[in-house]
Amino acid sequence: MSNKLLYSGKAKDIFSTDDEQVILARYKDQATAFNGVKKEQIAGKGVLNNQISSFIFEKLNAAGVATHFIEKVSDTDQLNKKVEIIPLEVVLRNYTAGSFSKRFGVEEGIALETPIVEFYYKNDDLDDPFINDEHVKFLKIASDQEIAFLKEETRRINELLSDWFRQIGLKLIDFKLEFGFDKDGKIILADEFSPDNCRLWDAEYHHMDKDVFRRGLGELTDVYQVVWEKLQAIK
Ligand code: UDP
Repeated sequence: MSNKLLYSGKAKDIFSTDDEQVILARYKDQATAFNGVKKEQIAGKGVLNNQISSFIFEKLNAAGVATHFIEKVSDTDQLNKKVEIIPLEVVLRNYTAGSFSKRFGVEEGIALETPIVEFYYKNDDLDDPFINDEHVKFLKIASDQEIAFLKEETRRINELLSDWFRQIGLKLIDFKLEFGFDKDGKIILADEFSPDNCRLWDAEYHHMDKDVFRRGLGELTDVYQVVWEKLQAIK
């Protein structure tokens, strides 16, 4: 197999494969926060996130969500359909937390009557700014119809995910998704779903996600391991 490194990200390296339409994502033992300002090597993180994300994407595929996920091929690696990533971080919030709590001066953990979807422009140089639908159109990232699809699809995915995490005693506070255009121009879910890009609280309000690293609350891999073990009980 001719695996050429195409892109090296903060949490994953992306390689080409013999198939034009398929890429190999290799999960790294690296944690970053605050746009890369805080950075650490954490042994075992790549394996855990590949396990967790593969598990979730398999379930999403089975539930009829169109995703890039093909299969997990080793501890750290998975095969994905090649997509052209849409440069948006699509964030959905079920409860207040993080930047939302800061922006509006509200405490964390307040249930939102209707989940809120937000867009951030994926651009490290600009620090991923918060943008609205009209900015998305100005930047020619997506049309009205595509914007509507991204929001609806994210809400649909939230219903599935919230239910699965509820089954294992975890509250899905918020999460970030990325989408891409496949070879036919169809928008499909891409990137990953792991405790790196969501917030999960247990019944005692313990943070079971990357906030453990961001806020220095303990061992990240201990917490991710618990999430992984709990996931096995989802129906
Ligand atoms: N998030 C992410 N990547 C980012 C920024 C945020 O995966 O570059 C996730 C984060 O883990 C959380 C959600 O998006 O689950 C909302 O994050 P928020 O805007 O509150 O920012 P934070 O305070 O986490 O930086």
